[in-house]
Amino acid sequence: MTTNTPLKLTSINKQFQDGDRQLTILQNLNLHVARGEFVAVVGPSGSGKSTVLSIAGALQSADSGEILINGEDITTYNDHDKANVRLRSIGYIFQASNLVPFLSVFDQLKLVAELAGEWNAAAKKRATDLLISVGLEKKMTKNVQTLSGGEKQRVAIARAFMNEPELILADEPTAALDISRSKEIVELIAKEVHDKNKAAVMVTHDESVLCYCDKVYEMFEGGLRLRKHSPSNTL
Ligand code: ADP
Ligand code: MG
Repeated sequence: MTTNTPLKLTSINKQFQDGDRQLTILQNLNLHVARGEFVAVVGPSGSGKSTVLSIAGALQSADSGEILINGEDITTYNDHDKANVRLRSIGYIFQASNLVPFLSVFDQLKLVAELAGEWNAAAKKRATDLLISVGLEKKMTKNVQTLSGGEKQRVAIARAFMNEPELILADEPTAALDISRSKEIVELIAKEVHDKNKAAVMVTHDESVLCYCDKVYEMFEGGLRLRKHSPSNTL
């Protein structure tokens, strides 16, 4: 078994230009996520949560600091190498499920495997098994546009797991869902992390799903601090 840390952010700084002002969004931010760990990041709107996630996901660069994904230092990678890391090592789940319109449920998963050059018999079976595990066995051939919000989000989750990434990043994955659907979605992420010894970071506003996470960090002065009363897993 590999001992690589799924995610390690060290001394991350990020500023944005706002007219003629420089806004410091992240300042000396550190985050270490171990294998088997499901971490939540909470904080007010505009506090930099999505920025942390996009830096952790190699979608955006930091101004300074070090980014290790699955033990690999990607800090100075070019766009092509970052794209490779994203395909190989990271599964993303966004608030709006960001599915490809006009493709069937099954083909959403096929597409990401094809992009990674890994569409074969084993991948086909994995896509089928994943869609069964998220309760979509009867919807595999349906166009995603015919699905409900909760179903779309379950497709997005199965797709995020398809290439067996070590790191799952979810930005407000339950924002468009009601409480019971929200819990189902987050439970699926927790199960993948804990059963398969993966790692996940979830940004959320939703206190009702924090009980599935192992640690809760709050945005604080441009960095992260651990919430004192971490949730227990008893519901
Ligand atoms: P959160 O996800 O916690 O709501 P964000 O990370 O999206 O916060 O944004 C943090 C702050 O950075 C906000 O004030 C936002 O307006 C600003 N911001 C985010 N992205 C950019 C950008 N590309 N250019 C300028 N400002 C940005
Ligand atoms: Mg956000």
